[in-house]
Parts: sequence; C-alpha cells; structure tokens
Amino acid sequence: MRKELLRKTKRIVVKIGSGVLTGGGNDIDPSFLEGLAEEIAALRAKRIEVVVVSSGAVAAGRQALGLSDRPKTLPQKQAAAAVGQSRLMRAYEEAFSRFNLKVAQILLTRDDLANRRRFQNARGTLDTLLACGIIPVINENDTVVVDELKFGDNDNLSALVTNLAEAQLLLIMTDIDGLYTADPRKDPSATLINQVKTITRDMERGAGSSGTSVGTGGMATKLAAAKKVVKSGVAAIVFAGKVKGNLGRIMAGDTVGTLFLPSGESLNRRKHWIAYTLRPAGSIQVDAGAREVLAKHGKSLLPSGIAKVDGRFARGACVRVLDPEGVEFARGIVDYSSQEIAQISGHKSSDIEKILGFRYGDDVIHRDNLVLL
Ligand code: GLU
Repeated sequence: MRKELLRKTKRIVVKIGSGVLTGGGNDIDPSFLEGLAEEIAALRAKRIEVVVVSSGAVAAGRQALGLSDRPKTLPQKQAAAAVGQSRLMRAYEEAFSRFNLKVAQILLTRDDLANRRRFQNARGTLDTLLACGIIPVINENDTVVVDELKFGDNDNLSALVTNLAEAQLLLIMTDIDGLYTADPRKDPSATLINQVKTITRDMERGAGSSGTSVGTGGMATKLAAAKKVVKSGVAAIVFAGKVKGNLGRIMAGDTVGTLFLPSGESLNRRKHWIAYTLRPAGSIQVDAGAREVLAKHGKSLLPSGIAKVDGRFARGACVRVLDPEGVEFARGIVDYSSQEIAQISGHKSSDIEKILGFRYGDDVIHRDNLVLL
C-alpha cells in the first residue's frame, strides 16, 4: 500500500516543528538542518518536489532576545518571530547551500489563503519556485497576525499548504514516532499505529496537547491536519523527524511513523478551501429534515429548512451549518446576508421575492458551495 502510494508521489510537503528543529528549546540545531538538506537533495535528485513548512521563528527569536521562557504576550511572540525568522532562514540557507540547494521564504497569513486571488497568486509563486528547483520554506507571518486571525498552528498551516501546492503527500515531522494506541509517556503498553484508515473520535480524544515547551502543536493538531488532507484525497505521515534518515526511508516505502490513508471520497480544491481555509462568519441552524437532505442527498440549503441564524454576515460569507443539536456538520458560502436569511427562514423559496422585494435564487447555500464535514 505504502509503496504504491509513494510511487505516485511527485510533490510533497514536509512540516517541521519547533521541537524537531531546535532540539527541545535550544537554538536552531544546525546538524538537524544539514541532515534534512541532504535528504531533500536526494529526493530532488529523484525528481520529487519538496515544499517545507517550518516553525522555529519564535523559538529562534526567543534565544536571540535572551528570553528564558516561551514568550507569553502576543507582542512578545511577534517580536521574537521578527528576530527569529531571519535567523531561521539564514540557518536553512547555510545548511541547504552545502547541497547546492536554494531556499525561498514565503510568509503567509490565513487571510492570504482565504482570499481566492491571493491564494492563486501564492500558488503561482510556489509553482515557479519549484520549477526553478528552489525549496520554498513557508511559515506563518507571525509579526502581522492577531490571535483570532491565526492559522492556529503550523500543523494546520501545513495541511492548507498541501492543498495550495496540490501535493500528494504531507509529512509531519514531530518528536515522537507517530500515533500510539495510548499516550506512551504514561502508558508503557502503548503501541505505535502504522496505518490509519479512518480518524476516529477516540483517537482525537486520546491525542493529548503539546508535549514540548517550544511548539504549539501536539498530537491533536497533527490529527486535525491529517484529517484535512485525507479529505482531499491526499495521504499524511506523522513520524519522528529527529531520527536521521527517516525521511528517505519513508519515501522508499519503509514502515516508518503513522500513515493516514486518503479517504475514499475526496473534496475538490475549492470545496477544501471553503471547508478549511475560509473563516466562518456565523452559523445557520437547520431542522432535522434539512439536515437529512443535505447530508444524505447532497442537496442545496433552502430557506424553508432554516431554524435559526447567528452572527452578522454578508452575501458571499462562509458560515457553519449546524444540526438541530447545534453540532456543525457542514460549511458553505451563503447567497443571502444574515439579515435576509432571518427574514426568509422557514419560508418557501417561491416567497423570497415577496418577502425581500428581490431574489438571488432559490437557495441560501447552493450545493456547489456546500461541504459536508
Ligand atoms: N509560526 C511559529 C514559529 O515559527 C510556530 C507555530 C507552530 O509551531 O505551530 O515559531
């Protein structure tokens, strides 16, 4: 299975966490980067294109600023990232130049990817860099974003970049061997899971939060990232990044880390973008009947099935779609504003014009703009 999957893999995203890069809280570890460069050079020689998503700006900046602890306030983090990002890139440049590889820095914010034109622009830049044989090194543009606009963590960013780059595989380097049946730090009988077909709620519950003082992730965010990529028909592997040679072994098809298999039905890139990159501006709760036709029959959302609308948003916004219990089961782009929806909810589509004095169409969310989660 792995070998077959990897044979078709021509473009990969490699996500490197701060813990892997810094050796657990110290400054960037140059020997790790050199090993990484060597392995990426070997992949390039086999015509595999590699995009790197790298954390480590905050960790590197913290060292430079002489902060003993992880920066706590947002301005502190941003200052640390501003100092650290250039150090991070210098370290990449030095290590990669030994193997005749050039690197390019790309800093993204969630807003960049949520805007379709900027998304496509970033896509074009990535393609051009890869065609020139350059390794893009992507990080969040930490110095300009505020908390509520953040990707959250670089695991999430790496999943969105996988979609952006149309890569066939996401490799997440972390500080443990992969996903275990239980927390191996607490339970000695825990065993490594080699392959995951479906990410279950149990797995999600069992995945604790971050184990290190430098990264923001943990197994939970890795699972969330894996879930996003498998939905678009792409595989993900979570593995121990510090073990030298692991990247090469994985690409040779060896059983290293945990492989998350692509799910059967895959979202196209646009739907993936709606589901995961756009930020929902509000929510629409539907009744049981509407839930059924949306979830089971792939229909559009009509005003008649809407029970409640929350938040203020304009036509064209992305919203969460909730079932009668308040659980989100879909996301979509609305054709009417929140105020208009409040007026037409519960009514037949044929009454829209009578109520509003105009109509855009029958649907509040057209099926092409609706994604089941
Ligand atoms: N962007 C942050 C950094 O470079 C890391 C965020 C994360 O690791 O999730 O330090």
